[in-house]
Amino acid sequence: MITGKTKLLGVIGYPVEHSLSPLMHNAAIQAINDRQNQQNLIDYVYLPFPIKPEDLNTAIAGFSAIGVHGFNITIPHKQAIIPLLSEVSDIARVVGAVNTVYRTNKGWVGTNTDVAGFLAPLQTYNWNWHQKVAVILGNGGASRAVVAGCAQLGFAEIHVVGRSEDKLTTFQQSWVNSPLPVNLTIHKWDELSSLIAQADLLVNTTPIGMYPNIQESPVDEAMFDNLSPGAIVYDLIYIPNPTKFLQQAQVRGAIAIDGLEMLVQQGATALELWLQQSVPVDVMRRSLRQHLGLSK
Ligand code: NAP
Repeated sequence: MITGKTKLLGVIGYPVEHSLSPLMHNAAIQAINDRQNQQNLIDYVYLPFPIKPEDLNTAIAGFSAIGVHGFNITIPHKQAIIPLLSEVSDIARVVGAVNTVYRTNKGWVGTNTDVAGFLAPLQTYNWNWHQKVAVILGNGGASRAVVAGCAQLGFAEIHVVGRSEDKLTTFQQSWVNSPLPVNLTIHKWDELSSLIAQADLLVNTTPIGMYPNIQESPVDEAMFDNLSPGAIVYDLIYIPNPTKFLQQAQVRGAIAIDGLEMLVQQGATALELWLQQSVPVDVMRRSLRQHLGLSK
């Protein structure tokens, strides 16, 4: 129920219509209230805000003026928001992007919950990460959160595969002075076959295989024969679910992790920051799975 005291949460992006965040955050807010007694109800609503790049400054000033409590940021504002904030967390600085903003008495503070979201499903495996090798496909925005996550876990080697020599070199250089221990090597796609044989964790951060191109995979069928059966294969894509990439890995005995859990966990981490209480991750996950027509 919206009341006179309802506080505003939301997501800014352009476009933003595709965002699944309003669905899962409002489901969580409702579930928290269903589980509380009348005295402890929380009064929040989470809305989508389509904001064009040229309107970002005005929109954020407006958010301050009307007392928005906190918000998520999606493409194309994840970097552009940074100069408009009073403070940026260490992890957001390392990644170079902000996906969550909350308010303090000093002003807006930006952080990045994609790293925590990426790590959450991996942390259910009790592996000695210091002896493991990660191979990451793609060197865009999401790849930066994945590299930061792998560095936090302490991976012995992190290999990043891309198609542009210039972008790969810039990517690598951006980690040289990182406070995280990053043993990062860059590769072109023609080196993938030998890299896959070494991979304990193989992550797709490219959009290859995303709906509607569901027959595509970033890795050729034959190359998957080099994959060690106990490896973890992780696709950041969540539609379709599973992707062809994950199906190829699963038939070879690999552990498959899809992008839906990362989406849910980055959202749960943000909601916990705003509400300062634990949130029903199960409800958030279920709301998305139902919406996408996936089995529970
Ligand atoms: P991005 O910044 O545009 O990066 C995409 C990367 O993929 C770039 O390195 C790009 O290479 C590469 N790439 C694109 N098409 C390619 C192709 N045909 N062949 C080889 N490489 C290709 O995008 P992003 O924000 O990182 O997002 C990437 C994917 O992750 C999307 O599918 C997104 O939905 C997903 N994602 C999921 C979550 C989640 O919570 N599950 C969170 C964030 C992102 P160039 O740089 O050479 O163009």
